Amino acid sequence: MGPSVVIVGAGFGGIAAAIELRKHSFEDITILEKGPGLGGTWRENTYPGCACDVPSHLYSFSFAQRKDWSRLCSPQEEILDYLGGVARDHGVGGLVVPNTKVTSCAWDDEARSWTVRSEDGRTWEADALIVATGQLHQPALPRLDGEFAGHSFHSAQWDHDYDLRGKRVAVIGTGASAVQFVPEVAKQARRLHVFQRTGNWFLPRKNHAYPRWLLAIFSYVPGVERLRRWGLFYYGESLTMGIRHPRTLGKIGWLRSAVFMRWQLRDPAVRRKVWPDYTWGCKRILFSSWFLPALQRPNVELITDPIARLCSGGVVTADGVERELDCIIYGTGFRTTEFMFPMEITGAAGRSLREEWADGPHAHLGITIPGFPSLFVMYGPNTNTSGGSIVFYEEMQASYIRQALAHVRSHGAAAIEVRRDVESASDRETQARFAGTAWTQCDSWYRDETGRVVTNWPGYMREYAERARMLDPSEYELVPAREPAPVAA
Ligand code: NAP
Repeated sequence: MGPSVVIVGAGFGGIAAAIELRKHSFEDITILEKGPGLGGTWRENTYPGCACDVPSHLYSFSFAQRKDWSRLCSPQEEILDYLGGVARDHGVGGLVVPNTKVTSCAWDDEARSWTVRSEDGRTWEADALIVATGQLHQPALPRLDGEFAGHSFHSAQWDHDYDLRGKRVAVIGTGASAVQFVPEVAKQARRLHVFQRTGNWFLPRKNHAYPRWLLAIFSYVPGVERLRRWGLFYYGESLTMGIRHPRTLGKIGWLRSAVFMRWQLRDPAVRRKVWPDYTWGCKRILFSSWFLPALQRPNVELITDPIARLCSGGVVTADGVERELDCIIYGTGFRTTEFMFPMEITGAAGRSLREEWADGPHAHLGITIPGFPSLFVMYGPNTNTSGGSIVFYEEMQASYIRQALAHVRSHGAAAIEVRRDVESASDRETQARFAGTAWTQCDSWYRDETGRVVTNWPGYMREYAERARMLDPSEYELVPAREPAPVAA
């Protein structure tokens, strides 16, 4: 039984936490989800070409491996289907309360529990709170002067009713999402203008469907898919190694990208515009064999002049040129460093998480925050990866949280709270480990406005697993249970 747990968010993180808790007989679990169902980013992002750029044998739960992934990197529907299936198989799909946007979570020092409120005024009480809202759920729209009179939407809110065929379309942004949908839009639009602010380093990814013989090997040769997962894990670690050591091993990654990009970019004018001027791995390395060829199609123009403003007919660049458009698609990413905000979270003594994070988000192992008893974050600060699978990290976090709650349960306590000195020391150590790495060598969505890297883990998946595998009770303090009220004579 108890403690009772409210989980906010029904993406991979929320579902991982619910499964882990259920496996260890925590029965009282509620998952509050702002959308109409589970899936998180894989329910929200439905743009054409949407797929994971992390191979599915790794971007999946270790306890729910599949032998029949259709291709190296599964498309969005397949991932959503997978997550729904895993939730169903583990009996947690029914715990999701859909269409419930949480606006505030407050710790009550007296009651020693959390009160969670939704936008429509409903409330929940719980002994523990798991915030699994992720880093990539709040679309970022650029602040541009002027107003466009045509149609526009963000890539995470794709308007499938809008027919792009024969239209003059602009895409603003060339990040991981845009490189997936630009090749698809280029096939439909009459003219496509791609506005790039910064170039990217690319590595190949064709992502053809697996041939039947390979699927048969996965299905019938014991251990092959486990071996594949292992190989992909260490391939991911090798990317991290290049990012951690940009002057030495990073050069190998750089060379692979440079050869691939030189081979793909036949048009010298496009090549000059695309070529990045920053260290390999500083921003997310993009995997696509289709984006750079798409930029060289006759109906596609790559624009690197900064956008000066919008006008009713289109976009005006700094050189004064106006492109007339029917539609603007914003591939401008997410407000990653805001994490769960604007949700209001208030911990012990009424201290808000905004105050606690005034100098930037930080949490012990990205999970626990001093002053916030039994609050746990999934995919929290410094747990993103540039060369691995978030699902791997989330499994570690789910197990860590379960151990923390088991500790509370076995001691008959009300809650558990990380020691401030422990969290400060681990934050200092995390930040120190970024020194000399590629992550610190350009601006990116990994960093906040002060330049602190707040989203990414500075090391390897293996290291995170070592640290998060076992909860160390000495790093925590227990909040004692309330004395039972005296019985009236
Ligand atoms: P993103 O990587 O943050 O890219 C946003 C793009 O918009 C960048 O090219 C950025 O340019 C540009 N941009 C932002 N503000 C702009 C402005 N004011 N004017 C002009 N350009 C602007 O966002 P995303 O492509 O949606 O991807 C976000 C993250 O989602 C990825 O990094 C990845 O972690 C995840 N994702 C994963 C997959 C997957 O397959 N696993 C697929 C898609 C997305 P700058 O580079 O100059 O900032």
